[in-house]
Amino acid sequence: MAAPPSRGYTPLDDMSCSLVMKFGGVSLADGDAVRRVCRIVTDRTGDPPLVVVSAHQGVTSSLEHCAREATQGRADIDQVRQRHRGLLQQLSLDPELLDRHFGELRRILACIEGRGTLLAEELDLALSFGERMSARVVAAALRGMGHLATPVDAFDLGLTTDSHFGRARPLPGVQETLRASLAEIPGIPVVTGFLARDQSGNLTTLGRNGSDLTAALVAHAVGAERLEFWKDVPGIMTADPRLVPEARAIDVIAPEAAGELAFHGASVLHPHALDPEFTETVSIRVRNVLAPDQPGTELRPGTPVEGPIAIAGHARLAGLSMPREGDRGPAELFALLQAKRVTPRLVHGESERVSVFAPPGSGIDEVAHELSDRATALPPVASVVVVGGGANPGLDALELLDRAGLSPRLSAQGRSAASQVFLIDPEDRTEATRALHGGLFARGLAQRNRP
Ligand code: ASP
Ligand code: MG
Repeated sequence: MAAPPSRGYTPLDDMSCSLVMKFGGVSLADGDAVRRVCRIVTDRTGDPPLVVVSAHQGVTSSLEHCAREATQGRADIDQVRQRHRGLLQQLSLDPELLDRHFGELRRILACIEGRGTLLAEELDLALSFGERMSARVVAAALRGMGHLATPVDAFDLGLTTDSHFGRARPLPGVQETLRASLAEIPGIPVVTGFLARDQSGNLTTLGRNGSDLTAALVAHAVGAERLEFWKDVPGIMTADPRLVPEARAIDVIAPEAAGELAFHGASVLHPHALDPEFTETVSIRVRNVLAPDQPGTELRPGTPVEGPIAIAGHARLAGLSMPREGDRGPAELFALLQAKRVTPRLVHGESERVSVFAPPGSGIDEVAHELSDRATALPPVASVVVVGGGANPGLDALELLDRAGLSPRLSAQGRSAASQVFLIDPEDRTEATRALHGGLFARGLAQRNRP
């Protein structure tokens, strides 16, 4: 058996990397973006940082599409190949740099096409090419700028997980292996996010946005002092700036509050990257590639929650309603949710039924499928969630929605006592988010209470 989880783990001197920098797909969207990232990585003094990368923007979704299309007899990597060829050209890199990967991907898709079905492990294998290729591109771009950099596949570093394809979790003890293997890498290691391997040698993925978790694991493993998540927004925001243009960056936030925001759909960080194991041992910031001089948002353990922090929400939640039949219905439903690793965003109990809501793709669809003889799928809803709050955040928020002429279908306390979840019609989402943000942030409490 592997060693127990390495809480309070003391780094040795052989791997002295004080900074881990993680770059998301949007930050690596095109040649200019990659160059900007390379400048951010190298424009600093001190030991070289360790870099963790996501796939270039949109590539993971394209790869998933390719894998699904292959089952229908349409195995085609053209779009993915063109995308990467374009990047190589924009960066004046060797046009053949990724040919080995294209060839391997083509063979995998041909295999899926031949059988006409897609196994969970084949999907993870297909998705792996996104990060495997972006790590090569970023490392080559760094080398092109005169810096020693080495692309590394995290699964070759000993990042081992269970075999829960699509949502794999690291096995205890991986940190020690990671640290020892990273110590061998010359120059700036450019590590693939999102990817790992199970104990049988199959590649696995850590779930969407899993690169954040890779970065946290790596930072913890090497005993880094700082971990920076670089995005294309000023930090963790008071609301999604695409819905609320006045949204602003939060200076300091408690990791639990950031976790709650992420859980409720804010594109903050992968929720497991916010586990205390990481937040209590590494100093974490979310920073903006478009304004690298700005400090961004600091995640500081123990930051008090003194009022509403931000508005989060999911554009779509799938709902499932199960008859109680005594305790049998709920027991079966919750056991299956747990087995599929689905944490409902809202649970609603009535005398005869219990309903749960979770994002599509979280595994709730599989639960619905397995219970299709008894559970009923509910019409899709959106959620709007006030994270943090004063004495009575729910009442204030309800009043604001009411004034905007919006009535939530359901409301409930969130996981953390201080957040409030509202389920609304998906088409009302923007309006509801703006009404809550305007009322709770822009005007301030005193004005909000005026008649
Ligand atoms: N590329 C994966 C995704 O799009 C993982 C990540 O970006 O963190 O979800
Ligand atoms: Mg991402």
